Amino acid sequence: MAKRGMLIVLSGPSGVGKGTVRKALFEDPTVDFNYSISMTTRQPRDGEKNGVDYFFVTKEEFEDHIKNGEMLEYAKYVDNYYGTPLKYVNDQLNAGHDVFLEIEVNGALQVRANCPDGVFIFLTPPDIKELRNRLVGRGTDNIDIINKRIQKASKEIRMMQNYDYAVVNDTINNAVSQIKDIVKSERLKVKRV
Ligand code: 5GP
Repeated sequence: MAKRGMLIVLSGPSGVGKGTVRKALFEDPTVDFNYSISMTTRQPRDGEKNGVDYFFVTKEEFEDHIKNGEMLEYAKYVDNYYGTPLKYVNDQLNAGHDVFLEIEVNGALQVRANCPDGVFIFLTPPDIKELRNRLVGRGTDNIDIINKRIQKASKEIRMMQNYDYAVVNDTINNAVSQIKDIVKSERLKVKRV
C-alpha cells in the first residue's frame, strides 16, 4: 500500500491574497502536489470555468452534499457556501499523493480538527511584520491609528496560533517559494504527528 499523502492547507485572513498565491504556486512546473478544486454556490466570475476554478453548484446541490457527508469541510462566506469535496482528497491521499487546499479560516479549523496530521500554513499580510517591529520601538502614528492596527493585527495573530507555519505575503514569489520550502521540509520529517 502506498504511503498516505500529506494534506497541505493554505489559509489566512480575507484579502491577504490566498487565491493569487495559490494560482502562482500551481503555475510553477516543479510543484508536484495536487490542488483540490473547491465547490461553491457563488456565481462564476469572468473567465472562471466549472471544474477548473471551482465546481459551481446551486445552494440545494451544495446542501445535499453536506447532508450526504460528502464535504471534508465547508463554510459560508459572504452569503455563499464554499467547501472541499471529501472524495477527491481521500482518493489522492490514499494513493500517496499530497493534496493542497486553499480555504478560508473557518474551514481550515474544521480540517485541523478532523485531520490533525495536515500541514497548516497561515498567509499573513506584510504589515503585521512591520507593525510588530514598530510596536517594540517608539510609535509615531496617532493613537487611533495605532489602536486600530493593533486590534486588527492581534485578531489575525490569534488566528495564526492554530497553524504550523506563517508565511508573509510580501511578494508572491517569496510566498510561493516559502510554501514550497515548507512542503519540502515536511516531506523530510522522520515522523509526522
Ligand atoms: P472567492 O469567492 O474570492 O473565490 O473566495 C472567497 C473565499 O473563499 C476565499 O477566502 C477562499 O480562500 C475561500 N475558499 C475557497 N474555496 C474554499 C473551500 O473549499 N472551503 C472554504 N472553507 N473556503 C474556501
